[in-house]
Formats: sequence, structure tokens, C-alpha cells
Amino acid sequence: MIVAMANDASVEDVARVVENIRQHRLVALELPGGERVAIGIASAIPPDLRASLAELLESLSGVSKVTHVSRVYKLASREFHSSDTTVNVKGVVFGGNEVVVAAGPCAIESREQLFAAAEAVHNAGATVLRGGAFKPRTSPYAFQGLGLEGLKLLKEAGEAFGMVTVTEVLDQHDIDATIEHADVLQIGARNMQNYPLLRAVGTCEIPVVIKRGPSATIDEWLLAAEYVLSQGNPNVMLCERGIHPLDREHVRYTLDLSAVPVVKHLSHLPVIVDPSHACGNWRYVASMSLAAVAAGADALLVECHPDPSQALCDGTQSLNFRSFSEMMSGVKAVASAVGRSVSLAAG
Ligand code: PEP
Ligand code: MN
Repeated sequence: MIVAMANDASVEDVARVVENIRQHRLVALELPGGERVAIGIASAIPPDLRASLAELLESLSGVSKVTHVSRVYKLASREFHSSDTTVNVKGVVFGGNEVVVAAGPCAIESREQLFAAAEAVHNAGATVLRGGAFKPRTSPYAFQGLGLEGLKLLKEAGEAFGMVTVTEVLDQHDIDATIEHADVLQIGARNMQNYPLLRAVGTCEIPVVIKRGPSATIDEWLLAAEYVLSQGNPNVMLCERGIHPLDREHVRYTLDLSAVPVVKHLSHLPVIVDPSHACGNWRYVASMSLAAVAAGADALLVECHPDPSQALCDGTQSLNFRSFSEMMSGVKAVASAVGRSVSLAAG
């Protein structure tokens, strides 16, 4: 429910509305944007209370209009926050007119590998360095990542090339160490519905990317964002990385590009597209990156490795340096064709 106040509403009028909402044990929030004050109720309102509460609030002085919010998510919705949210990470802005490119290896394997990848993607125009230190692997026998050692390398490489860094946090216990070393936390597709983890990153200020679970609906994905937002962290971004495919023979997942305009319509949060995990094959990554930019994606998250054939994780979907740099030329051309540009330098 959103309570729009009249132009001439006084501070006392606003306080009275907030007080009435809180008396019903509901969360009242002053909403940003617009010339007039609006107050949103961020909790689910019990159905038997809806009509009477709306009537009560409408009768209060200074109230212009009460509207019901149809969506289950509130803080993530455009109804609560009409303008686009931008997330500024050390001068790299996600959600603005510039398309941000984040790239790097799936997993951090060694200093040589990470620094070579960082240098190459930086030279080709990426401003964000990705690299996993804690890897969610299907098999417990597969390479699990370098852990803290990987985080340290990521921080060093980010500093060496003036890049913002993003890395996955798998477990609540690793949040503090990850925040100390990286600029953006990634919640992996497998953890999109790990509610304790979502709540825990919600109590931090660090920007968080929430990957869409391969079986998650758009509403479930936006509710995952709501978990983080509801704990007080406003710096949330969403990443489409492919949903369960009809045919696994040719692609790993199906990149749901229609999710980009849909989420941009329903929500104010920046939308990132990861074509690497979706395609599962480097051959298709450039095409889908270009398509993602044309569809309105705010950023790309792409895997790139010095020697994909030797990668310890996700080599088949990783671009080599040459294919990454070719992809970047296409991304710049498409961005300019749709009236945007590619963000080229950090801070
Ligand atoms: C990754 O980014 O390397 C990763 C594991 O992605 P996802 O969670 O989308 O599978
Ligand atoms: Mn990967």
C-alpha cells in the first residue's frame, strides 16, 4: 500500500500516517522521488485489514490518495521506487546510461592466471574484474577455489589495474573476509533462495549481485532481492544467467533475455546479463552479449581465461583474450546503436 500525501501536507501529517501504520505492526517507509511525500507499507498487509486500513489512512489530514500495491515484493518494485536505481562502486555506475562490463576467470587459479586475465580484460575495456575464490561445484571432488588466498589475489589484481572487483560469497561465515577483499558480492544461482545468506548480506552496505536461480520465476528472483533490501542494503543488482533449458545438447541453460525488459519494467534495480553460464559454450557468448545490450541490460558478466583449454572451471564457456576483445568491439557498436555507451574507466 502506498499513501500519497497532498502538496500542502505538514510534517505532523506525515508523522501521523507513519504512526498509524506502525500501530498496526506494519513497516512504514518514506519513499524517494517526486515532489510530494509518499509513504509505503513494506510489510504484507493481512487481507482482512486492507480495506479498513486504507479507509483509516485516507481519512487522515494531509493524505491525498491510498493505492494498493499488487506485487508481493515492495521495495524492489517500481511502484515503491519509480526512478532507476544506480549503484556506484568506486566510480563505476551500474544502472545508468553506460553499459558496464565485468569480466575475468570463472575461478581464481593462480596469480599469473588472474593478473593475465585482469590485464587483458582491462585493456579491452572492462572496468570490473570477476573471479571466484569460493566455487559452488556440482561435484565435491572438483576444484573448490583458492578461498582466502584467492580473495587476496583478487584485491591485489583489482588495485593493480584500477578495477572494481566482484566475487561470489557462498557461505555466511565468509562474508566479512569477502567484504574486506572485494567491492561487490555475488550471490550465486544455487544460493538465490538461501534466505539466511540473503538476510546476512542485507545487513551490509556492500553492493550485492543476485543471480537468478535456473528454476526461479521472476517474482521469486525479485523476492530474493526484497530479502536483501528489507534488511537495509539498497545496493542490489540482479543477474540473469540462464534458466533450465529444453535441450542441453547445445546450450547449458537458456538465456532468458525477455527477463531484462520485464525486470526493468517491474523493478528499479540494475539488471546484469551473464551469457557465459547461460550458453555454456564460448562460441555463443559474444552474440548473446550483444543481444543483452540491445535488450537493455545495464551490465555484462563474462568469463575470460588466458587459456580456456586449461581452465580448472568452466573453460568451455570462457572466452580467450582475442575473442573477448572482438566481443567488446561489438558491444560498443550495439551500445551506441541503442543510444548508450560502454563505461570505460573506473573512478
Ligand atoms: C559463476 O559466476 O562462476 C557462477 C558459479 O555462476 P552461477 O551462480 O550463475 O552458476
Ligand atoms: Mn563459472
